[in-house]
Amino acid sequence: MADDFNDQALMDKIVSLCKRRGFVFPSSEIYGGFNGFWDYGPYGARMKRAIEALWWHEMVETRDNVEGLDSTIIANPTIWKASGHLDQFSDLMTDCRQCKSRYRVDQMEDPTTCPNCGSKDLTEPREFNLMMKTFVGPVFDEDHVAYLRAETCQPIFVDFHSVRVATRQKLPFGVAQIGKAFRNEINPRNFTFRSREFTQMEMEFFCDGEKGMEWFEYWKAERIRYYREKLGFDDSNMRIYVHEKLAHYAKAAIDIEVKFPFGWGELEGVHHRGTWDLSRHSEFSGQDLQYFDHDNGRKFMPTVIETSVGLDRTMLAILAKSYDEDSAATKKEGMDEDVRVVLHLPPMVAPIQVAVLPQSKKLNENAYALYKDVDRFFRSEYDDTGSIGKRYRRQDEIGTPFCVTFDFDSLNDNAVTVRNRDTMLQERVGVTQLRSYLEEKIGM
Ligand code: ATP
Repeated sequence: MADDFNDQALMDKIVSLCKRRGFVFPSSEIYGGFNGFWDYGPYGARMKRAIEALWWHEMVETRDNVEGLDSTIIANPTIWKASGHLDQFSDLMTDCRQCKSRYRVDQMEDPTTCPNCGSKDLTEPREFNLMMKTFVGPVFDEDHVAYLRAETCQPIFVDFHSVRVATRQKLPFGVAQIGKAFRNEINPRNFTFRSREFTQMEMEFFCDGEKGMEWFEYWKAERIRYYREKLGFDDSNMRIYVHEKLAHYAKAAIDIEVKFPFGWGELEGVHHRGTWDLSRHSEFSGQDLQYFDHDNGRKFMPTVIETSVGLDRTMLAILAKSYDEDSAATKKEGMDEDVRVVLHLPPMVAPIQVAVLPQSKKLNENAYALYKDVDRFFRSEYDDTGSIGKRYRRQDEIGTPFCVTFDFDSLNDNAVTVRNRDTMLQERVGVTQLRSYLEEKIGM
């Protein structure tokens, strides 16, 4: 990662907003937290599910040639022998003998000096395996060791044959899954960017090796399109890093990098993995995972194109690019504060898409009935506490794109005022048109 800028103030604001408004909390906070683990609060959980749903819709539901999978976190440990994780999934780490800080050597600007205290008294770098270990069964010995999966893709390779037989898919086709992955990261940092427990959304596309590069280009383009069209990234906050040094089995690899407050960072990898994964699992399981193509009588090991993205990083990247402090706007709505804090979240992933606000508590009965109706179609919230201006601000801070105000006129004209978070413009919309109006604006 190129640390070409570092906006610590922005990071602090995002972390504080996440805590204050219930997006993300430190895990086990009343016990002092637990380094590298984060809990998603009510709005964070909603946003996380919305991102998952968007990805799943895009990658599985709208495609005839991609199937879904939901495998276990703990599985036969031989999988991790075959994948190479047990032997090679390690980072070099070093400890400072003075202040006891621990570092990943590849992340240190100067691997001979402690970045914390400046001491030169560091231990010799040594290999540290990132797999998280546990025991399965009643005996806690080496024969009962198992691992929490370090990535969600390995079970996809392992289940490749079963999925193909069950779905009668022919090559080319893909298998996708969303789930937790665990890595004993030496130095968790940058909020949720590098955690020890995180969620991945991965898709493995199996094809004939002759078409491998074509499919690699296809998926690369598709994933970039997704970030542009669905999540609003553009050239100012997204770039492509082309790997020059490749794993020996890989034919091509790129990272989709986005701007985080601390610099550019990897959000997603698109990789041409050749036949490596299925060949290894064939070898270690003794099962033939080759594909027989009835059309031309050829038998071959499928080539894999992978798209692999972290959900936690996606959410952090969206929060970072959406965070805004708008000082010109504050007076417009009769508020006396200095700045309006607003999250310009893409409406499809905003935790609340529509807030319904009665102008006065006297209107609660009718306004609440409208809210119940709106809530059937959109992620919604009802708020009748405080002035309208304060309620708008609260919704701005959690990124709600539309506030619907039910006022005294609504009783007569059966219309409501819809206020747009980004333009702050207000429009009168008939209650009967409200659903289609919002659907169109949200892009559903
Ligand atoms: P990095 O180089 O940042 O450690 P990686 O290249 O090891 O990442 P992959 O193994 O390719 O990452 O994992 C795919 C995706 O999973 C990454 O692009 C990232 O979005 C996410 N991811 C990986 N490690 C973590 C982590 N520790 N915390 C949060 N997300 C992660």
